[in-house]
Amino acid sequence: MSNNTVDVALIGGGIMSATLGTLIKQVRPEWSIEIYESAAEVATESSNAWNNAGTGHAALCELNYMPEAADGSLSPAKAIQINEQFQLSRQWWSSLVNAGVLGEPQSFINATPHMTFVRGEANVDYLRRRHQVLQSEPLFADMEFSDDPAQIAEWAPLLVDRRAKDEVFAATRSLTGTDVDFGSVTRQLISHLVNEGARLHLRTPVQKLSRRADGTWDVHLPARSGMGHQRVNAKFVFVGTGGGALPLLQSSGIPEIRGFGGFPISGKFLKCSNPEIVKQHRAKVYGKAAVGAPPMSVPHLDTRIVNGEESLLFGPYAGFSPNFLKNGSWWDLPGSVRAHNLGPMIKVGVTQFSLEKYLVSEVLASREKQMQSLREYMPTARTEDWEMITAGQRVQIMKKDPQKGGVLQFGTEVITGGEGSIAGLLGASPGASTAVHAMLGVLEKCFPEQFENEWKAVLKSHVPSLGEDINADPAIAAKSLADTAEVLGLNTRV
Ligand SMILES: Cc1cc2nc3c(=O)[nH]c(=O)nc-3n(C[C@H](O)[C@H](O)[C@H](O)COP(=O)(O)OP(=O)(O)OC[C@H]3O[C@@H](n4cnc5c(N)ncnc54)[C@H](O)[C@@H]3O)c2cc1C
Repeated sequence: MSNNTVDVALIGGGIMSATLGTLIKQVRPEWSIEIYESAAEVATESSNAWNNAGTGHAALCELNYMPEAADGSLSPAKAIQINEQFQLSRQWWSSLVNAGVLGEPQSFINATPHMTFVRGEANVDYLRRRHQVLQSEPLFADMEFSDDPAQIAEWAPLLVDRRAKDEVFAATRSLTGTDVDFGSVTRQLISHLVNEGARLHLRTPVQKLSRRADGTWDVHLPARSGMGHQRVNAKFVFVGTGGGALPLLQSSGIPEIRGFGGFPISGKFLKCSNPEIVKQHRAKVYGKAAVGAPPMSVPHLDTRIVNGEESLLFGPYAGFSPNFLKNGSWWDLPGSVRAHNLGPMIKVGVTQFSLEKYLVSEVLASREKQMQSLREYMPTARTEDWEMITAGQRVQIMKKDPQKGGVLQFGTEVITGGEGSIAGLLGASPGASTAVHAMLGVLEKCFPEQFENEWKAVLKSHVPSLGEDINADPAIAAKSLADTAEVLGLNTRV
């Protein structure tokens, strides 16, 4: 067992650990950081470019952030919140590009218009009203609406080509949208951390966490040949293991994790690399979720730019596997059941009929049925141009609810415990796009005094709008969009 106590142990080499570690280096450069990653490389799970859709979620195109209330009203509050959170990411990444920590912006972020596309009178009416509400919000000011097929064909020809003449459809478009390679961000940040003295331990799955009487944590590592099991002592632990966060947080014994369970949903995408087709589409086009489908299953036809190469993705198609990680084990789901989360999990199981029905139909869908879903967005799609790829696992949160017994939650939740000495992230949405906001939240929750008295000022030099209501002031919103577009090279007309 190591006698040294490290300041920070980051478990998992995904975008969350990479972001938190880099933020910590900005406020406490002298702190020692150890990073433990079970795989042979960092960014091989959800943060990998091909395991997620790469949407820089800013609520420009995702309808689930602005549902219609029972009285027909539309509130922009959630959409504004998500967009403001993404502005923090844009600002922080810009400061890192300026500092040379992140390289060429095109290696991780590219301007890609965000569009919403809907069909049928009722949906067109909803989209028009949504556009009217958002248009007066500074962060959404550039959004355009059209129900003119010729205009939509100009924006995204594949949506309109060979569509029935009598079909009613409409779209919105925002040019401030982005495609992000979160895997590239992760690799670049971790490489910077290692250059700054952090130690990266690959092929090192953390097995459990235990707390000592002095309040520090023992991080239990696998046996090394002839040396038995290893333990490293840390003052602060971050569980950034994505889908694997629930079991590790459970092993820590913190009361804050009681009542939480996880429900894994795997994602698949159709991918097209045919350059003749790829060059006809430059946008992320989100539609409307099928009835009963969870919000993250909204179909979208996306441009992806990874390692400078463009391709198209369509999906996600859902699948079911009890694994919590893509490279996890079938034991993950049953092994996470405890006396304290069994009730909420059963309650979710017996109340989420529409989700279960949706999952069963997705799992049983034939290739032809999958292509039919794509043809709703791209009528000319040919089966031979598209291959199915398996994306990452999302572990949705199931948690105890005083009124309902148990609820399924589609957002993310930061769990902290041990007087701020341990934190972890559960859930997957809006995910990597809002990693900066989420990790600033971890620092604020775990180190409240330092954050308020010392760190906030330092962090504001990297994230100027930290703590500010960006959308409330048109000048601040416009400045955030313009400054970050300039540094991140997003002004190129696409
Ligand atoms: C299908 C899909 C589509 C998505 N689309 C988007 C999108 O368009 N935009 C967006 O912003 N977000 C999207 N997301 C969400 C986003 O990908 C995740 O929120 C984000 O990548 C999570 O990052 P993370 O660092 O928490 O986890 P991960 O990237 O999963 O990293 C966790 C790491 O921990 C390691 N690990 C696990 N257990 C252990 C252990 N015991 N010891 C050591 N290491 C361990 C894993 O190997 C992995 O490297 C999507 C997710 C999915 C699955």
